[in-house]
Amino acid sequence: MEIKLPYKVACLNCGAVVLTDMELECVGSYERKMGLELEHLATFDGVCPKCGGDIYVQVEVWEYPEGNIEDYGVVTKGAKELEEPKFFDSGCLSEELL
Ligand SMILES: [Zn+2]
Repeated sequence: MEIKLPYKVACLNCGAVVLTDMELECVGSYERKMGLELEHLATFDGVCPKCGGDIYVQVEVWEYPEGNIEDYGVVTKGAKELEEPKFFDSGCLSEELL
């Protein structure tokens, strides 16, 4: 699972659009009825390019069953969401070709 980049947020201090660059990492897996539930986490810890204010963004995604986004959550500090994060399964393309 990957997050579509750049993911845009707005600085709470000056309103500048900040393009975050982050990667989803698998942080957990849980055995469930239809297979594995995977937990992914991406964090961005940076500063606003305009005012230098601290920007922190954390995106958490639960994938279950595999390839399906079950739920996700976004936490921001010093910034607000401008758009919903979009995700794509890096394995989808090759599966469709089969
Ligand atoms: Zn700013």
